Amino acid sequence: MKNIVIFGAPGSGKGTQSDLLVAKYGFRHISTGDVLRAEIKGGTELGKTAQGFINNGQLIPDSLMIDILAKVYDGLMPCEGVIFDGFPRTIPQAEALKAMLAERGTEVTCMLELDVPDDMLMERLLLRGKTSGRADDNEETIRKRLDVYHAQTSPLAAWYEGEGKRHAIKGYGDIQEINDALCAVIDAE
Ligand code: AMP
Repeated sequence: MKNIVIFGAPGSGKGTQSDLLVAKYGFRHISTGDVLRAEIKGGTELGKTAQGFINNGQLIPDSLMIDILAKVYDGLMPCEGVIFDGFPRTIPQAEALKAMLAERGTEVTCMLELDVPDDMLMERLLLRGKTSGRADDNEETIRKRLDVYHAQTSPLAAWYEGEGKRHAIKGYGDIQEINDALCAVIDAE
């Protein structure tokens, strides 16, 4: 059972690469952003709470996210492996993920970090905004999301380095080459 964290800024290609890994390995995929967007669409209480944060480019409170994550994770069991996309985004979330997996007798296998410069992220997200229909893919909210990433999420790189699980990969260029680099790490685990 593999638990793979795919990590990077908004627009770094986590979703695209997760889809390729799912196709290759048959892993299950947890995108917390997708989970929240489905809740918003469904008009649930959680969706109503999440909407304000998402549209402002801010993070949903840790306690709420951790709860959601455990439920989604348990719902996918049993399976060969899980890709965590967009979670954890803060150090408390990473600690909670570690504790949640330990309670289930498992752990994070590796953290795959997609490194992409900010100007390229902005370009990609503005392009995605033309077709994604996402309320947060506009220039002002993208800037906020990138600020939130640098302030709250990027410290996780050092956190996972300390855990001995971080693998940083160049996240631009040919999509298949990026995927090959990710697969090489997974296959070595
Ligand atoms: P994403 O689709 O991963 O870019 O997430 C879109 C938005 O959902 C983020 O900007 C946050 O507002 C919210 N979100 C997704 N995952 C998390 C998380 N792990 N913690 C807090 N907020 C999250």
